[in-house]
Amino acid sequence: MIIAGPCSAETEEQLMATSKALAASGKVSMIRAGIWKPRTRPGSFEGVGVPGLEWMKAVKEETGLPVTVEVANFKHVFEALKYKIDVLWIGARTTGNPFSVQEIAEALKGTDATVFVKNPVNPDIDLWVGALERLHKSGISKLAAIHRGFGSYGKSKYRNDPHWQIPIELKRRIPELPIVCDPSHICGNRVCLPQISQRALDLDFAGLMIESHINPDEAWSDKDQQVTPEDLETLLNTLVLRTPEIQSEILSHTLETLRNEINEIDDELLHLLSSRMKVADKSAYINEIMVLRYCRMKDGMRSLKKPIP
Ligand code: PEP
Ligand code: MN
Repeated sequence: MIIAGPCSAETEEQLMATSKALAASGKVSMIRAGIWKPRTRPGSFEGVGVPGLEWMKAVKEETGLPVTVEVANFKHVFEALKYKIDVLWIGARTTGNPFSVQEIAEALKGTDATVFVKNPVNPDIDLWVGALERLHKSGISKLAAIHRGFGSYGKSKYRNDPHWQIPIELKRRIPELPIVCDPSHICGNRVCLPQISQRALDLDFAGLMIESHINPDEAWSDKDQQVTPEDLETLLNTLVLRTPEIQSEILSHTLETLRNEINEIDDELLHLLSSRMKVADKSAYINEIMVLRYCRMKDGMRSLKKPIP
C-alpha cells in the first residue's frame, strides 16, 4: 500500500496536479493531504479547512483513488465523514492526547470508518496501543498504525528517530494490525527516504506513506522532505520487495556480518584491556618505588603517623 500526496492541501490546483501525477505512475494506492494542520508554532500555515475536503472529493473522482485526511477532533470527523473521505488518520500530536482520541472515538461510534493511527510523538508504545484500543472499543475495527518516528531532544540524524523496536513490539502485541511506515516525517529530508523505506519493507510493513508535492521547494509545510511525483516514482522503483526466502538469506548474511563485527570489536576490547593492564602495572610499580622512597626519607624519624597518600 503506497499512500502519497502533499503534506498540506494548499490550493485546488496544487492538490489536483500532484494527485494526477501520482495516480499516473500507477504505483500509488491512496492520496493523502492535510486539511487541518497541527503546527508546532502559531503563525505557520494551519491548513485550508473544509474547502479542502471539496478538493479531495474532486481528486477522488478524477483519479479513482481513495483519499485520506488527518482528523484531530469531533468537528474534523464530522466534516470528513460528510465528504465521504475514505480513510481518516490521527496525527502524532493527537495520539498523545487521550482526551482527543476519546473524542474522535466517540464521534466515530456507529460508523464503519477506516482509521490509521500515527504513533505519538514520544516513544510510548502504551499510548499508541491505548489510542487503538479506544477506537476499537468504539466499534471501529478497520484500523491500521502509522509509524512516523519519535521526537528527541537535541541533534539527530533524523527529524524523528525511527526506534524500530517500537513498531516491532506493536506487531508482536497486535499481529493482525497492519503497520504503514511514514519515512517523510522520520527523515525530515529527501536524502534518507530510500533507506528508511527499504528498511520498512524489509521489516514487513504493510506499506508506506510518503509526502509528495508538485513543487516541493514552494510547499507551505514540510518542504524539505517532500518529493515530486516523478522522484517518488523513481524512489519506489529502487525499492525491493523481498520474498521470504531472499529475506531469510539476507538476514542470515547480515547476522553473520554483525557477528563478525562483534568478534572484531571483542578483539579490540581485549587488546585495549590488556594495554590498560600493562599501563596500570607500570603505574603500580612506580607508585611502590615512590612509597619506598618516602618511607626511606622518613625512616629514622619514626614519625609516619599519617597514611601515605
Ligand atoms: C503530516 O502527516 O503531515 C503530519 C502532520 O504528520 P505527524 O502527525 O506525523 O507529525
Ligand atoms: Mn507533513
